[in-house]
This record gives sequence, C-alpha cells and structure tokens, in this order.
Amino acid sequence: MEYFLSEEQKIIKKLAKRISDEYVSKVAIKYDKEGIFPKDILDLLAYTELTGVYIPKEYGGFGGGVMEMCLVVEELSRNCAGVAVSYAATALGAYPIILYGKEEQKKKYLPKIAKGELIAAFALTEADAGSDVSSIKTTAEKKGDYYILNGSKHWITNGGEADVYVVFAVTDKSKGPRGISAFIVEKGYEGFYCGKKEDKMGIRASSTTELIFEDCKVPKENLLGREGTGFIVAMKTFDRTRPGVAAMAVGIAQGAYEHAVRYAKERVQFGQPLSSFQAIQHMLADMYINIEAARAMLYSTCRMIDSGAKDFSKESSACKVFASDVAMKVTTDAVQIMGGNGYVKDYPVEKMMRDAKVTQIFEGANQIQRNIIASEIIKEY
Ligand SMILES: Cc1cc2nc3c(=O)[nH]c(=O)nc-3n(C[C@H](O)[C@H](O)[C@H](O)COP(=O)(O)OP(=O)(O)OC[C@H]3O[C@@H](n4cnc5c(N)ncnc54)[C@H](O)[C@@H]3O)c2cc1C
Repeated sequence: MEYFLSEEQKIIKKLAKRISDEYVSKVAIKYDKEGIFPKDILDLLAYTELTGVYIPKEYGGFGGGVMEMCLVVEELSRNCAGVAVSYAATALGAYPIILYGKEEQKKKYLPKIAKGELIAAFALTEADAGSDVSSIKTTAEKKGDYYILNGSKHWITNGGEADVYVVFAVTDKSKGPRGISAFIVEKGYEGFYCGKKEDKMGIRASSTTELIFEDCKVPKENLLGREGTGFIVAMKTFDRTRPGVAAMAVGIAQGAYEHAVRYAKERVQFGQPLSSFQAIQHMLADMYINIEAARAMLYSTCRMIDSGAKDFSKESSACKVFASDVAMKVTTDAVQIMGGNGYVKDYPVEKMMRDAKVTQIFEGANQIQRNIIASEIIKEY
C-alpha cells in the first residue's frame, strides 16, 4: 500500500530496512539466545545518523518527529524487536527532555543522544507501582543544591547500558500524582546502582534491570520541568512513545508474515505447497489485512501528533492496542502455518511470537490503554 511518506521519510525507512536486513537479521537469533545487548547495531544506527531522526535540528538532530522514530523502530523490529526496543528506549528517555527540558538541559543531552554518544532510559515503574504509576514510592528530598533520591525502579529498559536516565520520584507525598517530579540522573552519580537483570521471555537482546537509589545525589538543576509536574511529563511522553510500541508490533507482525508466506510456498504436503490450501490462504489474507490496518492507523496517528495536535492520548493508545493485538495474532498464526518448524528456534517466528507478547504489556498494558480510550470517549460525548 502507498502510505504517502515524504521523500525524506522514504529514505529513512529504506536505510533502516537495509540495516535491519543486512545486519540485524544476522545477529537476531544469537543475541536473543545469549541475551547480548546490541551496542554494535546502535553504533551503526549512530553512524548512519538514524539515532537523531526525532531530535530537533537545533539540538543536532534531523528534525523529524514521532513518524521518523516509528519508521526506524518498525524496520528494526521486522528482524529483531529486542534491537528495536534498545533503540526506542532512548527515545522514551529523550522525549521528556525534548518536551520539558530547560534550554541548558536540552543543549547538554540532546545533541549527544542525536549522535548516538548517549543511550537514554526512562524509569517510572516500581515493584508495587506498575499500572498504578501514581503510587510510586521512590522519594526525592531537596537538600541544598541537590535532590536526594531513595528507592528502586523495576523493569527499566536499557538499565545498566544507558548513560542518562529520566527518573520519577515523589517530592511531596501529600499531593498524590501532583507530588511526583522528574529528574535527569546520569550513570555514575553517587548512590545510583543498577540491580538485577531480568531473564525475559522475549526481546532478550534488550537489557531490562532494576535501578537502586541510595541517598543518590542529583544536582538541583537536573529537575525536569517544575516540581510536581512529573506525572504530566510521563503521560505526555507516553502519548508520543506509545506509537513506537505500535511500530514495534507492526514490524514484528510484518516479519512473521513474510516468513510464513515464503514457507507456505516452499513446504509441500499432500503433493502440493501449503499455500495452495484455502485454510492457509485465508490465514495469510487475514495477516495482510490486519497488518495493513495497523500500519495505516499507526502512520495516521504519527501524522496527527507531528502536525502539532494538542490532544492525542486516545489515538496513541488505540494504535498501540490494535497493533500489539495484531502482532500477537499474526505471530501465533505464523507459527501455526509453519507447524513444528514454527515452534523451534531454527526459524525466527517462535522468537517473534515471544517478542510480540510484550507489546501488549509495556508502556501501559492494553487493559490500561482501553481505560484511557474509554475515558476520552466518555468525555467527548
Ligand atoms: C520488558 C519490559 C520492559 C519495560 N520497560 C520499562 C521501562 O523502560 N520503564 C518503565 O518505567 N517501565 C518499564 N516496564 C514496565 C511496564 O510498563 C509495566 O510492566 C506495565 O505498565 C504493567 O505493569 P505491571 O507489570 O506491574 O502489571 P500490573 O500493574 O501488576 O498489572 C497486571 C495485569 O493486570 C491488569 N490491570 C492492572 N490494573 C488494571 C485495571 N485497573 N483494570 C484492568 N486491568 C488492570 C494489567 O493490564 C495487567 O494485565 C517494562 C516492562 C517490561 C515487561
């Protein structure tokens, strides 16, 4: 389908596709099996300047938006969502700075993120605060020129690998969500440690860890936005990064679909290729229909966001839910079409099915997205 991308967007997509097919595909199975962080691929993305596609020009980036970020994520995910999420998590860490950073903060961090010299991360979730993020317990107490952070974070993508973390902590417990603030915390700050690394079902090339703050000294100028605006910083960031999860889902689904079609044409049973059986043809047709629908919804949401629209929580959540549900269905069907070969690690679709699952869970599980969408619908009418 023609998606009416600009010439520049087509170039970005083509370049990301080339890196994905020529490099990511070669390491996907090994990195998944051994849990290897894809620093070499991130370096390649930096070399080709794809690390800066969503960063404003005045801070050394290409000046694109959510669409450009999603095009890269989609293409990387066609071969390995673990690699894609390692790239996307830097965008998740960079967006709060793009949206709410003071000029000095933007100048200090964004050009290095654009060049791929800094890897970023976003640290909101805690052991007892997953879907209910407003109940986080990590505290930040102002003492002289520093905020002193105490607590821990769970499930942090790029944990241990990132150089800069946007961390959410409670500055005023009495104010609930309005008492949460966001901070930029650099690797190496006193009292900041990386904890346990998670042994995950999928996206195993990405690093997911605990973070620990023990009297961690964060300079007061590293407060992002104003005190008490952390919850808004997080929610406005998610509005822009949930399409990134949708892009990951579309890419995973596309990858699985391509493998399934090729396999169905080659594998012969009952004297005919699998692709001659109508039951298989209908599965392939449904995969195509759903992927195209998810991609169209994703790209139109990206265009809406990048056009400067003010409110797009509903659209952003909707494309994340739809695309992630499509990815789960398409990858499961791809495994089915490939029979026993779909179920073993010799072919990439079993990895894709494992990778797809997390797109229904992270950046707010799909139940929470449906809550967001429903509350917006009810407000509208
Ligand atoms: C691989 C991975 C990477 C991640 N990376 C990051 C990261 O970089 N930064 C970060 O801050 N976080 C990260 N997360 C955390 C992620 O955002 C949370 O896991 C997610 O929001 C769900 O929280 P939870 O796991 O605590 O589940 P819970 O909140 O315990 O929910 C469990 C289930 O109950 C459902 N549920 C909960 N409340 C409701 C409700 N009110 N109505 C209906 N259903 C409900 C949920 O939808 C879910 O299905 C990551 C998670 C994973 C798995």
